[in-house]
Amino acid sequence: MKIPIDIKTGSLTQMSPLSQDLVVGIDLGTTNSLIAVADNEGKPQIIRDYKGKTMVPSIIHFFEDNSYIVGIEAKHQMGSDPKATLYSIKRLMGKSFQDMKEIQNTFGYTFLENYEDEGLVRVNVNNKFYTPVELSSFILKALVIQAEAALDRKISRAVITVPAYFNDAQRQATRDAGKLAGLDVLRIVNEPTAASLAYGLGLDRNMEETIAVYDLGGGTFDISILRIENGIFEVLSTKGDTFLGGDDFDLAIAEKWKNTYRNELQLLPLEKWYELKWIAEEAKIHLSQNTVFTRLWNGLTLSLSKIEAEELFQPLIFKTIELSAAALRDAGIAITEISNVVMVGGSTRIPAVKNAVSQYFQAKVHDDVNPDEVVALGAAVQADILAGNRKDLLLLDVTPLSLGIETLGGLMDVIVPRNTKVPARIGRNYTTSKDGQKNLAITVYQGERDLVKHNRKLGAFILSNLPPMPAGLPKIEVVFALDADGILTVKARELRSETSMEVVIKSAYGISDEEMAMLLLDSIHNAKNDMEEKQRIEALNEGKLLIDSIQKFISLNSTLMTTEELNGLTERKKNLELLVETGNKDSIMGLIQEINEYAQPFTHRAMDSVLGAALSGKKVD
Ligand code: ADP
Ligand code: MG
Repeated sequence: MKIPIDIKTGSLTQMSPLSQDLVVGIDLGTTNSLIAVADNEGKPQIIRDYKGKTMVPSIIHFFEDNSYIVGIEAKHQMGSDPKATLYSIKRLMGKSFQDMKEIQNTFGYTFLENYEDEGLVRVNVNNKFYTPVELSSFILKALVIQAEAALDRKISRAVITVPAYFNDAQRQATRDAGKLAGLDVLRIVNEPTAASLAYGLGLDRNMEETIAVYDLGGGTFDISILRIENGIFEVLSTKGDTFLGGDDFDLAIAEKWKNTYRNELQLLPLEKWYELKWIAEEAKIHLSQNTVFTRLWNGLTLSLSKIEAEELFQPLIFKTIELSAAALRDAGIAITEISNVVMVGGSTRIPAVKNAVSQYFQAKVHDDVNPDEVVALGAAVQADILAGNRKDLLLLDVTPLSLGIETLGGLMDVIVPRNTKVPARIGRNYTTSKDGQKNLAITVYQGERDLVKHNRKLGAFILSNLPPMPAGLPKIEVVFALDADGILTVKARELRSETSMEVVIKSAYGISDEEMAMLLLDSIHNAKNDMEEKQRIEALNEGKLLIDSIQKFISLNSTLMTTEELNGLTERKKNLELLVETGNKDSIMGLIQEINEYAQPFTHRAMDSVLGAALSGKKVD
């Protein structure tokens, strides 16, 4: 089923009958997000909002009553209410608080202080705690609503793009965000792969090529080397700089002007500095097509020629070329083997960038698709293929449902996500939750729900005779190996003691199409409740672990504490025990934060740092 769209307005030109096979492509970006769909000729089109805009700024603003807005309206609140205006959520996906702590000051909003090693980062807005998954789901939801209005039909299936360097946790988080937004995420696609598809690269099954995708956006630079063979994309290497993009070009211009008018601009207030950077961006964009820029500003003449601009940009562009060389080295590819270069990101409109790239690679440079839109357009091509609208393109065999194991609190931990290409072999590490634990039950489930009780149990076994160790110390590697016939072998191994166990489960595919459709539908209808329940259980688990850790800490370190501190900590532990009983996620997370802050002085005092760390509640599965 293909949808006719009016390219200018993005609206439907004629109502098409409802069908199941509409799949959208979504570029969930750091700065901007876009949604696209293939038209009835299979040509991808960006879906515009009612004002005709294609890009939705990936920004969320929360009001005092916790209601929120997404997009350009949210962006307008940035200056007046920065703590409640969230941007760059994508940088937080799959990250722990520890990961983000060092660069916390580059964000205008704050995080929950979670000192636990693996504690996922949560954003604090008016003392409510949001996960990056929830926040991304708000952005996705806004895009879907915009597309549903433009197409006048319900959207339930999507392909979402992620950077090629995203790890398993970041991809899973993106998938979860889609699910929470009510979408069935058919596939997570690498951004460079999507960009290539938008140019038709890889659609010819006979093509065998090695290409480079050069993505210079607003805040980040990514270079990927891809091998395309028989319609299969393999990422050979990626390199990049998460803090190098168009913003730095603007900064270079603004600084030059500030330097020219050293005396007049010596004590520049912050809003004026922002204004100057805005004008710098205008100048940069103007000079992509003109030779001079001049502007009168507060009695000063701000001027810049194209040649001057290029001089300022040179060191930044040089960095991207150095990274490109490093990516080629990593891939073990000679530059002459690159046949095509795909340009992505608004900053590739700069002529000096284009020249540098084309001189360096000496290959065909593809830059005629709008570089802001190319990723979303390619995602729509992939979506159209998955919707079954391009019968000429064979699909690889994939797992129909996710496979995973049960973890603490009855949660489903997905090891092999649905739609993973088979054969596949994926492993993940776990640990124990109790001191001296001798056995670990591994129960394997299939399905998309967050709680195992709603999924299909495939089998179970016990990894026994673990040597006694403190909770959290054993390193248990669980590997799922899925062969081309869908036979699953699960292997669990304790790495410190080399205790291991292996079982073969034959029924990974043993499920009827109807049963599968039911399981998938269920997961979508229940996504919001499931995700809330999952977050509640995670908060409960965190709370319970902290209670145990406090108990341990008090019994070992009571001499290091004043009576007042001992009472204070005991009191808080009691409160946490009560809250864990009632199980309200936000109040548990709030108290955990408060206890972490309260306990800082004595954890520092505890001479044995290992014991100090115990109070921060090392997370175990
Ligand atoms: P991101 O990938 O970070 O979401 P985009 O791909 O949307 O970013 O690129 C945004 C950047 O592109 C901004 O820095 C913007 O100034 C820059 N940009 C957009 N158009 C032009 C142009 N014509 N010339 C130079 N830079 C441009
Ligand atoms: Mg981008």
